[in-house]
Amino acid sequence: MTMSDNFLPFALPEIGEDEIAEVVDTLRSGWVTTGPKARRFEQAFAEFLGEPQIECIAVNSATAGLHLALEALGIGPGDEVITTTHTFTATAEVVRYLGADVVLVDIDPKTLNIDPKLVEAEITPKTRCIIPVHYAGLAVDMIAILDIARKHGLRVVEDAAHALPTTLEKELIGTMGSDATVFSFYANKTMTTGEGGMLVTRNAELARRAKVMRLHGMNRDAFDRFTAKVPSWYYEIVAPGFKYNLTDIAAALGLHQLKRIPAFQARRELIAQAYNDAFADLPLIPPPQPVEGDTHSWHLYVLRLSEELEMERDVFIERLYAAGIGCSVHYIPLHLHPYWRDRYGLRPEQFPHSQKAFERMVSIPLYTAMTDADVQRVIRIVREIVLG
Ligand SMILES: *Cc1c(COP(=O)(O)O)cnc(C)c1O
Repeated sequence: MTMSDNFLPFALPEIGEDEIAEVVDTLRSGWVTTGPKARRFEQAFAEFLGEPQIECIAVNSATAGLHLALEALGIGPGDEVITTTHTFTATAEVVRYLGADVVLVDIDPKTLNIDPKLVEAEITPKTRCIIPVHYAGLAVDMIAILDIARKHGLRVVEDAAHALPTTLEKELIGTMGSDATVFSFYANKTMTTGEGGMLVTRNAELARRAKVMRLHGMNRDAFDRFTAKVPSWYYEIVAPGFKYNLTDIAAALGLHQLKRIPAFQARRELIAQAYNDAFADLPLIPPPQPVEGDTHSWHLYVLRLSEELEMERDVFIERLYAAGIGCSVHYIPLHLHPYWRDRYGLRPEQFPHSQKAFERMVSIPLYTAMTDADVQRVIRIVREIVLG
């Protein structure tokens, strides 16, 4: 068998006829960039979160949303922002865009999420903000993070790229009371707009600034103050802003993907449970599970090879590929990447839990477009590889 014959990709989006028809409608409408559909998508997102009044700001990536949130909070040179080493570089790079510095901390091996105790230990007079990441779709202990932030006067911006829909104590991530929460609609996330993201906040001032900076630092409110009728040609530039707006073509996808989130989550949950059951007797460490009654988005299903299994992680991955199963590793921790390692002089011994998890972890396929037969095939092949 060649790989292309019967290869199961690690991830695939599920785009239906409703999404396609809405994109075609957008193309025919003559309005392809940010317009009525982006606005409708923002409103629909607020309603999904159960808070029609919450500010939802559609952007062309989660990276853009994180950047806008930190910019609006005034993060800049001389400031420090604490986040987890066990994440994608986007979480941290946005801090460097603004000239501030990143302080990386280790994870709690029980959750693979940032360890709140270690956050507290890294706070200095320069610390301004914490960026927790709801890794794989399991909620960070936001009660502890918000508590630390309140105690030390810090801001909190949640990287919720994996966390739609995730709950903590039955509340959806996005409504936890941090300064801002940012979701991703990248191709492999739990819903997609191709590329896209949503910045969510209850802070009206942050929202106002982010909306201005999303589109070139353009402000139309100045004119609004003097007349109810805004001539379409008039604007003022109040800052050197960015080009981070979401197109109506992308929002057309988002409107229908968002409606499918409950069904998508149910399907992901079913696959995760099938994996949990099928691998329970193997020398594999299952992904951290949510507490009873809470929702895990199951964006990722991350297995760890236990110590008893005398097989290198890389060999495990080679065998999965040889059997036609795509997989990935989330993540090569930031402390191992040349840029972060060299800028901050980082060593693996500073992050023992992230390092150990990284060395033994593999993410296996989990997405709604998988058939039951695909799921059974992954199960069969993982069992064969482990049992030899
Ligand atoms: C995907 C991802 C991002 C970036 O999302 P984009 O929409 O691609 O910018 C940020 N953080 C984490 C943890 C991610 O997985």
